[in-house]
Amino acid sequence: GATIGILGGGQLGRMLAIAAAQLGYRSHVYAPEASGPATEVSAQWTQAAYDDPDALNRFAEAVGVVTYEFENVPPAALDRLEALVPIRPGKRSLEISRVREREKDLVRQLAGRTAPFRAVRNLEQLRDAFAEIGAPSILKTSSLGYDGKGQVRLRDASELDAAWEAVRGAPCVLEGFVSFEAEFSVLLCRGESGETAVWDTPENVHTHGILDTSTVPARALVLDQATEAIVLARTVADALDHIGLLTCEFFACPDGPVFNEMAPRVHNSGHWTIEGAVTSQFENHIRAVCGLPLGSTQRVGAHVEMKNLIGEDANSWPEILRDPAAKLHLYGKHVRPGRKMGHVTKVIPPLA
Ligand code: ATP
Ligand code: MG
Ligand code: MG
Repeated sequence: GATIGILGGGQLGRMLAIAAAQLGYRSHVYAPEASGPATEVSAQWTQAAYDDPDALNRFAEAVGVVTYEFENVPPAALDRLEALVPIRPGKRSLEISRVREREKDLVRQLAGRTAPFRAVRNLEQLRDAFAEIGAPSILKTSSLGYDGKGQVRLRDASELDAAWEAVRGAPCVLEGFVSFEAEFSVLLCRGESGETAVWDTPENVHTHGILDTSTVPARALVLDQATEAIVLARTVADALDHIGLLTCEFFACPDGPVFNEMAPRVHNSGHWTIEGAVTSQFENHIRAVCGLPLGSTQRVGAHVEMKNLIGEDANSWPEILRDPAAKLHLYGKHVRPGRKMGHVTKVIPPLA
């Protein structure tokens, strides 16, 4: 069979490689780290920097299609790969989703709602933006942030200097704080011919900026807004001619869904689909990038909950396994505080 190239060596790459193997594909992981969750399960891997032209050339020659598990693939690497092999999702999806203000601008153009925001490039612009948006607000680095890293919450103008120092002068957006009723995400997979498959929208709870749980079905207040959010996500996917998974995070607010951010890839809030749906997000992503028909996204239980194991949480795996309904996933990483080590999913009860 063909070989799928995966950029990035983390747990998302690992779960993509596992799904690819089940469909008869080999995976070739490209990552700068010596080994990691993805390299451990892939047939081949290249350890090289994302700006190593020779390694990129060899990688492109060895695979039939390239996908990725993170949106910060350096643009020069993309250009080099793109000349040699299809990249799915494509360059436009990455260009937009790499930069917070670009994705928010696109969503606004497509008539979606976002929090008030301003791009900020220096302290003076931060002061102006804060005067306009007001408190509370959040300063976020435009790129490279995850798990709430690179974010500073602002309550008072006296905090601006320290906040600007904390982000070390990186390009940022200042966002108004949204007092949401709930958070949820739309998990959408778009195939080669533009067909889309959407899973039930998980309701997501974050703790200290890190995803804690994803639950389906979401509560009614989320379900009431899911249809509108799905229409927006589909419009975004079409606008980008996106192929593969597209995840959009939303705040459920009294006036309707407010778009937070997107990821052009499989997503932590979709891990429940491994046991909780007929076809997982990983499998459908592989199917899409390989031009195969998409599988059913139907939920297979009355209730599905996914809980992340962060840092020391992972040490409790023996207790977790005492519950026969618990499906444990460990990523094989060394424990560090705040690090995503694994997750556990429960499908309750299975549907007949
Ligand atoms: P991810 O790991 O999801 O990529 P991230 O670092 O990109 O995270 P965000 O999704 O922007 O960060 O924010 C993390 C969490 O912080 C959100 O899920 C939400 O709980 C809270 N948050 C972010 N922005 C806002 C906002 N404007 N108003 C209120 N809460 C917010
Ligand atoms: Mg993010
Ligand atoms: Mg997020």
